[in-house]
Amino acid sequence: MSKLEIHQVAVLSDNYVYLAHDAETGATAVVDPAVVEPVMAAAAAKGWKITHILNTHHHADHTGGNLEIKDMTGCTIVGPKADKDRIPGIDIEVADGDTYMLGNAEAKVFDVPGHTSGHCAFWFAGSDALFSGDTLFAMGCGRLFEGTPAQMWDSLSKFMDLPDATQIFCAHEYTLSNGEFALSVEPENADLLARMEEVREKRRGGVPTVPSTLAEEKATNPFLRPMSAHLQETVGLSGAGLVEVFTETRARKDSF
Ligand code: ZN
Ligand code: FE
Repeated sequence: MSKLEIHQVAVLSDNYVYLAHDAETGATAVVDPAVVEPVMAAAAAKGWKITHILNTHHHADHTGGNLEIKDMTGCTIVGPKADKDRIPGIDIEVADGDTYMLGNAEAKVFDVPGHTSGHCAFWFAGSDALFSGDTLFAMGCGRLFEGTPAQMWDSLSKFMDLPDATQIFCAHEYTLSNGEFALSVEPENADLLARMEEVREKRRGGVPTVPSTLAEEKATNPFLRPMSAHLQETVGLSGAGLVEVFTETRARKDSF
């Protein structure tokens, strides 16, 4: 199985668009093209010809470049079947458990509703890469615009079964503010305190904090940690069920 070369493009105020390139075949996907010009420029600079767009969900800051890039390149647009009517120009509809070949690189698709009802994620096992869209962020998770906390917890739980070394290519640089919230619910988490030092340093220098690894997220992301006794105690739910703790944590983040 082929290993992808992944190039990160920072656009708008805090979005990350990714170019994923399979050198064996030349196939190149844009993941969640918020915009057109910076993405086309980045692909040109790499000498990569865009053959695919992979969309995680319908929001404009993930699909805004779809039609124009398709027009310019003739690329194939792959997106969630569950939301096919809201993905501009969709050609290939994928759903939970499907695999999709980007050249010789195989993606497994997860349906991960919560942020939107039809959100999906693409996991390239051979590249240790998860494109998580607005579901899992570095030290955070997406807001629940179209789903319930129970759905989001179920979605995040799918990611927790992936290998610890999986790199989380999320779609926004929200890490610093997510981390401030994480500290409010786990003030004594040593891994979190250490990670925040690194994150502050990186952001002072304008350096991306994304991707992180799943191991880091499991150790520091409160939305993957409803089982933490420390977090449960802080939110006043010691011994409660995981969905209940997750729900309370998400509610606190909404008003943080
Ligand atoms: Zn979104
Ligand atoms: Fe977004």
